[in-house]
Amino acid sequence: MTRKIENEKRIRGRAVSRGIAVGSVVIINSRGRRLSKVPISSNDIDYELKRLRTAFKLAERSLRRLIRGSANEFGDSRAEIFRAQLEILKDPSLINRMESEVCEALVNCEWAIQRSVRDFSEKLASVADLHIKERAIDVQDLGERLLNALSGKKSSIGPSNDFIVVTDQLYPSALAEFGALSPVAIVTERGGWTSHAFILARELGIPAITGVHGATRRLQEGTKVLVDGFSGELLINPASSSLSRLIDTESGSPQSDEICEIFSAPLPATTTDGEEIKLLVNLDVPQSFEQMKEVGAMGIGLFRSEFLIQPGMGFPSEKDQLKAYSHLGELAGNFRARIRTFDISSGEAQGDTDHLERNPALGLRATRLMLAHEPKEFRSQLRAVLRAAESGNIDIVLPMVSDISEISAVKDILDSEAEKLSDRGIAHGRPRLGVMLEVPSLLFVLDRLVEVVDFISLGTNDLVQYLLAVDRDNESVADSFRTLHPSVLRAIKSTIDFADKAEKEILICGEMAGSHIYAPILVGLGARNLSMNVRAISRVRNVIKSISSAKARELSASLLLCDSAVESERKLLQFYSEHWSSIFPENVMSKTMLARGTKAN
Ligand code: PEP
Ligand code: MG
Repeated sequence: MTRKIENEKRIRGRAVSRGIAVGSVVIINSRGRRLSKVPISSNDIDYELKRLRTAFKLAERSLRRLIRGSANEFGDSRAEIFRAQLEILKDPSLINRMESEVCEALVNCEWAIQRSVRDFSEKLASVADLHIKERAIDVQDLGERLLNALSGKKSSIGPSNDFIVVTDQLYPSALAEFGALSPVAIVTERGGWTSHAFILARELGIPAITGVHGATRRLQEGTKVLVDGFSGELLINPASSSLSRLIDTESGSPQSDEICEIFSAPLPATTTDGEEIKLLVNLDVPQSFEQMKEVGAMGIGLFRSEFLIQPGMGFPSEKDQLKAYSHLGELAGNFRARIRTFDISSGEAQGDTDHLERNPALGLRATRLMLAHEPKEFRSQLRAVLRAAESGNIDIVLPMVSDISEISAVKDILDSEAEKLSDRGIAHGRPRLGVMLEVPSLLFVLDRLVEVVDFISLGTNDLVQYLLAVDRDNESVADSFRTLHPSVLRAIKSTIDFADKAEKEILICGEMAGSHIYAPILVGLGARNLSMNVRAISRVRNVIKSISSAKARELSASLLLCDSAVESERKLLQFYSEHWSSIFPENVMSKTMLARGTKAN
């Protein structure tokens, strides 16, 4: 027992998805690829070779698509790069080299790719001829593409049932691709509370911590660890006493993410003084689709359609999208399903995430991208939504809008696609058109904005990011991601006020809406529609049921008068301990929980 305690090591990170899990470490890199060398037996050779050949096929397909796309829309010089890569890929010496590595060294194919690419590119780089030297970069790029293709093909990750992914930074696509082989927890070096990978982790109920510096170097593959998604602690070789104490704490925790009450019909959450708050769901993965009914959700507040884009497989067809959007319409029933158009960067649109813009959050993305290049995929998305709206209550939400003229321009495209559908005799409906308010420029034209949209979705994740100039994915500025900054609260308040005055619907959709700690503030600011991940609904509902809207207004009014984020965080803690200590016990409401936005999960 003593020896075990001596062996136990604790590392502090930030909690970003609730829950506690124990498992063995699997180290991967940001795109979900296993980094380590995994010995295989001779019986596994055929399986690994099959995976390798599939990766070659997928890489070839994605290169051909990139060549077509680049030549059409982004000039021919990019197409040349991809043609050169295709040439290397088709040269049999590359795959032969990798196959021999798998068969002779008896290793997983990820390792064989990494080794072969390294050897091959070193050889090219050592040649004097500049033209050949440059090919080394293409070979490395190709290696990345092959590894990407492999990670999309459910690699040999997850040797045991209970594995914990340890990575530098996780892309949401990597998490979605684990599918049934889902990790029991996630540990990352970088990322923030509102990073998409953690939004997904919360939706899937996978405990996660971030900010564990050097985790991929400090942890050994196969080591037993405990991840505490409440406190943010990582226990390496946890002692049996720690295991039983923490697991007991979890099962008795009122903060657990389980769905506590099953509803037979959608129902608002009602405050003690009778204010009705509609709770809606943000949906990203099919696993949560069916659960929305159980939690009594009143419609779908946000569907992030970019999650339909499978890495390496390109955009979904219009037919597949029609099916997906119609299904969402059915799930929403008498309520509404709000489909956000693809919120992707130009790199992602081309299936080329290895060549992202220098600052993709401020780059050619989402609605801007749609209007700049009018890629055919956006038109086909609008057609799919128009067609799904024939039978379902479907709305369109436009992301990353910074100027009202962008909304009118999308309206024109929508009209022209609707007209073409009518000409072809294809049935369609008229979706309502809303904007995701997340770029601060819109805050100063709210009077005009409310006239041109049917509704507003307030995206607090990006609004905080852009308003405070804090990268939501950057762990080193996580302390500056201050959701309670008075500027954020005032922005929310004035958006609600303008929408209410114009009698336009307004929903709050960012992660703030799904935090039971922040929900009372939103109610106090006048929010009546909160959209959140399906697992957050019970917790938020329970808090709303226990407070009065009059008290919530008192709280919000006092926060709006604060000079700084620090002051409003302090005031909130004081208010909760004076008025709502039974709802927010002191031990849960630590100061750090609020001072660091990452902890309000
Ligand atoms: C937001 O920005 O708040 C939002 C809801 O969208 P996303 O997190 O996908 O950017
Ligand atoms: Mg956003």
